Amino acid sequence: MREQEGRLVASLAQQGISRRTFMKYCATLASMMALPPSAGIAMAEAMASSRRPSVIWLPFQECTGCTESITRSHSPTLEGLIFDAISLDYQETLMAAAGHQAEEALEKAIEDNKGKFVLIIDGSVATGLDGAYSCIAGRSNLELLKKVAPHAAAIVAMGSCAAYGGIPKANPNPTAAVSVSDIIKDKPIVNIPGCPPIPVVMTGVLAHFLTFGSLPELDKLGRPKAFYGETIHDRCYRRPFYDQGKFAKTFDDDGARNGWCLFELGCKGPITYNACATVKWNGGTSWPVESGHGCLGCSEPDFWDGGGFYKALSMPANPLKLAAGAAVAGAAAGVAISFANRAKKGAAKAAHETTTLADLEK
Ligand code: SF4
Ligand code: SF4
Repeated sequence: MREQEGRLVASLAQQGISRRTFMKYCATLASMMALPPSAGIAMAEAMASSRRPSVIWLPFQECTGCTESITRSHSPTLEGLIFDAISLDYQETLMAAAGHQAEEALEKAIEDNKGKFVLIIDGSVATGLDGAYSCIAGRSNLELLKKVAPHAAAIVAMGSCAAYGGIPKANPNPTAAVSVSDIIKDKPIVNIPGCPPIPVVMTGVLAHFLTFGSLPELDKLGRPKAFYGETIHDRCYRRPFYDQGKFAKTFDDDGARNGWCLFELGCKGPITYNACATVKWNGGTSWPVESGHGCLGCSEPDFWDGGGFYKALSMPANPLKLAAGAAVAGAAAGVAISFANRAKKGAAKAAHETTTLADLEK
């Protein structure tokens, strides 16, 4: 371990991070993932190891927000550090190679690491026109996914687009966008939804794979339970106000200034499973609800078609009673939204409607 640590510790020192901080980070990561303390030491050993698993990262139909989220937080970042522990062999946004060189790098990475590499996908897969809506070097994303995925050890669908189809799949879904797991059925896939996803979730999943050679425990939507096991509402610091029936009515009223609940302003926290309320964003600085805006529900399927970001899920006639059954209410609201989405999608398809900005604001 000591010898293996040498390279990493030197690299950390250059970034102003002490060995102690790194060990503490690994222990925290293990605890976030509900693993025993010994797992933190195992993670540190795995990350410090000279064995660097190959990672191929393919961007499909996306906005690059997920890549920005993972790579563009603070500097130096411990999230960034994990990229010293893997061999990122192909990532079009970050790599220097272009054109034929880039294609050769991809072929070589697949050939050299068959059955062993982790495949990260961000973006949805366009299936309309045989995938021609979204191509790289003349090959559709669909074709590329079918070519690369069979050789991967595991797949990480990063962001809501890769996990569920995301915004490209929003009503009326002009490119017939689908998720990675809609196409690939015979590989272990972990979904890390969010628009964008939280960087430390990606770090945790990669650290788990590096350490144990497997994906962490997943929920029924393929998300790591450790990070998506509770709703935003479960851990929200405004929750006591919800339980007392104290709701902000506008974004600048006294209630909002006093930190009251944003439920009536459209917060989707009760039906959204993600770790924002505990992990927070920007190095733990804050998170959307703390900044005064309701949760949009970005880590849930079809969040874009959820009936309006500023429309309340339902009006709590008796908040105290509702608080006791919040999970049930949330689930019921989710089912209602999902039915409404399907109905709207069907109607839009039948009528070949064009979606306008006004539609999105409804
Ligand atoms: S509804 Fe939103 S703001 Fe209110 S307690 Fe739940 S998560 Fe927090
Ligand atoms: S608070 Fe909600 S909308 Fe905002 S990033 Fe977290 S899950 Fe997504």
